[in-house]
Amino acid sequence: MSKLYENLDENNPAHKVIIEINKKNEELYGPYHSECGLFQAYCECEFHEIRFNNLSEANKEIYSDIETLIIYWANDGTKTAGTLTRRIMYMLNKKNVL
Ligand SMILES: [Zn+2]
Repeated sequence: MSKLYENLDENNPAHKVIIEINKKNEELYGPYHSECGLFQAYCECEFHEIRFNNLSEANKEIYSDIETLIIYWANDGTKTAGTLTRRIMYMLNKKNVL
């Protein structure tokens, strides 16, 4: 039983409504993750599995390049998210990742 339903009593009318809402949310957004407290559609668990030290040398370089582009972008309030995305795409393209 998911943590989402922990301490909920099916015989309690208020809990019954919460259980129904939880079930509807799981239908819409996928199973609830107790680990991150989010539904599957918004889960970020897999992002936390990416650790810089575990990456290959090529991926460490890409990670650092993306990080550098984001730092420059964050310090320039005039650029759009689209600009950042295009710069990342351009860098990936140059490295033959795309
Ligand atoms: Zn998760």
